[in-house]
Amino acid sequence: MLPRYKRILLKLSGESLSNSNSGFDPLDPKIIEQYAKDIKQVTEMGVQVAIVIGGGNIYRGMNEAESGIERAQGDYMGMLATVINGMALQSGLEKAGVNTRLQSAIKMEQIAEPYIRRRAIRHLEKGRVVIFGAGTGNPYFTTDTAAALRANELEVDVILKGISVDGIYTADPRKVPHARKLNK
Ligand code: UDP
Repeated sequence: MLPRYKRILLKLSGESLSNSNSGFDPLDPKIIEQYAKDIKQVTEMGVQVAIVIGGGNIYRGMNEAESGIERAQGDYMGMLATVINGMALQSGLEKAGVNTRLQSAIKMEQIAEPYIRRRAIRHLEKGRVVIFGAGTGNPYFTTDTAAALRANELEVDVILKGISVDGIYTADPRKVPHARKLNK
């Protein structure tokens, strides 16, 4: 059976890699192993997989009044956090036997390729999973914006999102007890 999509972009939030049940465990090896297995299965169907990874399990930029850290500085810290997650996911995938490349929107050539659109497409065509770290490379954005941006640049068929909340709510259900889940 032919897969429904040829090229997909998977947005994984940082929190989706962490285990909130066991204290502060930002990167749960079991969760990463499971993701790696699932992603492997998808690639074996012939689907090209691009992944934009979040960083909220490690650091999220916030306003200066809350953190004491200038907004742009904090945002760069958040972008670095996404690269840490990208490296962890890359390790998990390679362990599962999946070929990967990590591309970063902020240059750090010892650990990741720089983001080059045409090169990313070439990797995808060769069946490599490409993980995009450092979001858009710009403060005042989030990795959801990066996902939408890369999805357009790479002309993917669909954006899929892995988060710790099971749908779309009127507000964050972890913070607002009366948040209502919206049905399709
Ligand atoms: N970030 C940014 N520019 C980007 C992507 C991310 O400044 O293009 C920073 C921002 O501070 C954000 C943090 O990186 O809070 C982590 O990303 P995000 O909150 O999107 O991660 P997720 O919620 O998906 O884990």
